[in-house]
Amino acid sequence: LAIGVDIGGSGVRAARVREGATNGPIVKCGVADRSVASVLSAVEEVVAELGGGADVGVGVGVPGFVRDGTVLRSPNFPEWRDVPFRRLLSDRLRLDGRVEVANDANVAALGAWAARGSRGDLVLLTLGTGVGGGVISGGRLLTGSGGTGAELGHIFVGGDRACGCGGVGCLETWCSTVGLVAAAREVGREVVHGRQVVEAAREGEGWALAVLDGAALALGRGLTTLVNLFNPAVVVLSGGVSQASDLLGPPALAYLRAHGVPPSVDSAEIVWAGRAESFAIVGAAALLSQPEHGWSEGR
Ligand SMILES: [Zn+2]
Repeated sequence: LAIGVDIGGSGVRAARVREGATNGPIVKCGVADRSVASVLSAVEEVVAELGGGADVGVGVGVPGFVRDGTVLRSPNFPEWRDVPFRRLLSDRLRLDGRVEVANDANVAALGAWAARGSRGDLVLLTLGTGVGGGVISGGRLLTGSGGTGAELGHIFVGGDRACGCGGVGCLETWCSTVGLVAAAREVGREVVHGRQVVEAAREGEGWALAVLDGAALALGRGLTTLVNLFNPAVVVLSGGVSQASDLLGPPALAYLRAHGVPPSVDSAEIVWAGRAESFAIVGAAALLSQPEHGWSEGR
């Protein structure tokens, strides 16, 4: 038994986790501001509310680049720089059990994998405000030598729209809500949320259908790269934008079938998971079952 904690820009969600599923209620706590102290207090509160005993382990998913428990930077917490979050949280909670901290999308991939019985290689993309990702290969979360690998949202898929990572033409510049809004503005539409683009496309508005077509082509290219690279048993697409599977799915999958390596395409199941908000909580707890520090060791 472990407690999984998902930290987002507006608050913290957590639950007890057993055998790849939440066990009991998901508890939530808002954060007073985006300071490290406020977030630590919120985590402490949810762990206490879940009756975190001294021997319980706590796993935490945090948006941003995380290396060996240290949050290097986070889009949701712009003031954070090299915050040793795992150590600060360990000191705060004073548990005997392990405390682990990792990137939220990496953690969501672990959660999706645990929910599927911890079998088969898995690639996950979270299509939300940004695009995050995670890869499970041979039972291990792939994180690279410094913990910041598997940034699947920042693979090049085309175009020259600037990305927050410093690159151009990243998957994130097309298939995130930020990307949909940027694409809509490029054709003169003043939208503020990606949802508005999806709604306009469902109403048959030409400009919005064109924006979604662009996103679908980008997603098809991204899926092709990922399937060719990792030969996964399953690709899970989650996050708010994945709820537009009716618009994105057919063209993206047609592109994948036309251009991917055939044996890998044939054996990859594509799952549209919608918001799938429990993945990050379940996966955060599953960090404790990964080899100690194996996902973040500098090698
Ligand atoms: Zn990028």
